[in-house]
Amino acid sequence: MRTPLIAGNWKMNGSLAANATLLASILGDAAAVSAELAVCVPAPYLGQVQSVLGGSPVRWGAQDVSAHERGAFTGEISAQMLLDFGCSYVIVGHSERRSYHGESDELVAQKAQRVLANGLTPIVCVGETLEQREQGATDAVVSRQLAPVLDTMGTQLASMVIAYEPVWAIGTGKTATPEMAQQVHARIRAMLAERDAESAQQVRVLYGGSMKPDNAKDLLAMPDIDGGLIGGASLNASDFLAIAQAA
Ligand code: PEP
Repeated sequence: MRTPLIAGNWKMNGSLAANATLLASILGDAAAVSAELAVCVPAPYLGQVQSVLGGSPVRWGAQDVSAHERGAFTGEISAQMLLDFGCSYVIVGHSERRSYHGESDELVAQKAQRVLANGLTPIVCVGETLEQREQGATDAVVSRQLAPVLDTMGTQLASMVIAYEPVWAIGTGKTATPEMAQQVHARIRAMLAERDAESAQQVRVLYGGSMKPDNAKDLLAMPDIDGGLIGGASLNASDFLAIAQAA
């Protein structure tokens, strides 16, 4: 039995004041939610989030991490530093990092490995562009993105979270239909099962891409959709909680 995870990706949004209001509202209703809740926030706010959410059932995490352990990497943030701030999760390979920062599948795999090696859980994002979907290349793209990650996982496969995020659905208001998403999620689980059948049943595969209160229930009812990675709607506490309640 996989506990659904509803994780917010705040992206580069927030301020100390706005975060305080948002976190207070999330905390206010978190007890009514049976899904696991998490927020992945900009790194400068991790201290604030740790002090507000510490001791609550809501977990928190970061949106990226360095592939290196430590050293002369100006501007980078290490997994060990994220652990210092009580993070549970780290998003790696978000499509915005892949496309705006040129992150390769191999770099994403190194980051995921670094996260795991430091006792944190990577949320590894994969997903195709509209052009790739129209070419019928969705499975091939997702398989290519995931392969180096799975190669480095070894026995730690069950400790990861995967987020299937079709690029054409992120921030666009277009959502994959539940059936379209389920098809890819099932394919991802089959890929995992090729490596380790037991772990494949434990790994949570989240859907991300314009998930909102009005489409969450149908998406989350699919057998291989184990939660959501929520962008825009995670900045509004009532939307975020409504999605969580649908899980
Ligand atoms: C995301 O950025 O991970 C995401 C899913 O965004 P949105 O929900 O806004 O489409």
